[in-house]
Amino acid sequence: MSALAIEYQAINLSQGFPDYPMSDELIGLTWEAMKAGYNQYAPMPGWPALREAIAAKIQWLYKRPVNPSTEITITPGGTYGIYTAITTAVRPGDEVIVFEPAYDSYIPNVEICGGIPVCIPLKFPDYRIDWDLVRSRISSRTRMILLNSPHNPTGIVFGEQDILQLMSIVRGTSICLVSDEVYEHLIYDGKEHLSMLRYPELFERSFVVFSFGKVYHNTGWKMGYCVAPAPLMTEYRKIHQFQAFSCHAPVQVALASFMKNRESYLFLPQFFQEKRDLFRDLLKQTRFDPLPCSGSYFQLVKYDRISQEGDKAFSVRLTKEHRVATVPLSAFYQDGQDDHVLRLCFAKQSQTLEEAVNRLKKI
Ligand code: PMP
Repeated sequence: MSALAIEYQAINLSQGFPDYPMSDELIGLTWEAMKAGYNQYAPMPGWPALREAIAAKIQWLYKRPVNPSTEITITPGGTYGIYTAITTAVRPGDEVIVFEPAYDSYIPNVEICGGIPVCIPLKFPDYRIDWDLVRSRISSRTRMILLNSPHNPTGIVFGEQDILQLMSIVRGTSICLVSDEVYEHLIYDGKEHLSMLRYPELFERSFVVFSFGKVYHNTGWKMGYCVAPAPLMTEYRKIHQFQAFSCHAPVQVALASFMKNRESYLFLPQFFQEKRDLFRDLLKQTRFDPLPCSGSYFQLVKYDRISQEGDKAFSVRLTKEHRVATVPLSAFYQDGQDDHVLRLCFAKQSQTLEEAVNRLKKI
């Protein structure tokens, strides 16, 4: 959709990335690190000061002591972090529970490792997890459950009940968890992010994945990290060592000092909530119906007051004729399930959102 957006000079609300600048200070710190000579390989698990800063953040936010030497690895992005976790734990024939709609890398990653994705639908329109259904799909071959909260593309977030259900399902099994928490700070209406890091019983079997790109408005930097208990992280690093070995050194040096300032991420829920509220408010001028959004920077909209076309055909037409690019939700399902829903990214300047709605209201 991004390629089509460029071709038709459409406003691109399809891919998840901001259209406003990242922090000048962080750019300056990276430049300084380069000038100071931090231009050779960083250690395989990541720059030590960055891992220490991450451990301090986790202790402060999620009240979990993690050992920066043995339990944190810096990765070239969150997607890589997830793939490496899957590669670490999944062997041919293993079953992996994946909730659909799903971030597009999960299922191919499982399949590359010879795993069998067991897809569980999050049902339109509230997309809650049906834990009884999950229970019924667990078998002796279930190796992993892939979790994502706040969730892309639906914007749902875990509540206490989800955590309790998850605990009761995995207790006494050897199922491990990959928890994609790249939207940890993009959570609204005073809700708290229920990270796997908060729950010792869940963390002991988890690979928890984060992305600096989502936190610091620089998705093009492709930097992230994975946190896992030492025995799991030891295995994870055996894969990482021969996949990427290490990541961009000067950026790690810069992030280590930048992230010590908690304000660098604490303003994010409010910042994005304002964008969400503005966008939802503007959408009232259109015939698109927004679904609830508690987290992430994606807004789902239903369009069946406008058209009965399939979502792919409709979003292509929207891009070509009305010059607003979106993602059809069927793209997040293996079987192309189509509930006439589109995903729009609101990590944009107000004027971009206003101009997009000016175009959408004409439909
Ligand atoms: N998980 C989800 C749910 C995402 O939306 C994204 C980014 N689109 C990622 C992981 C990957 O983040 P990164 O760009 O750091 O690879």
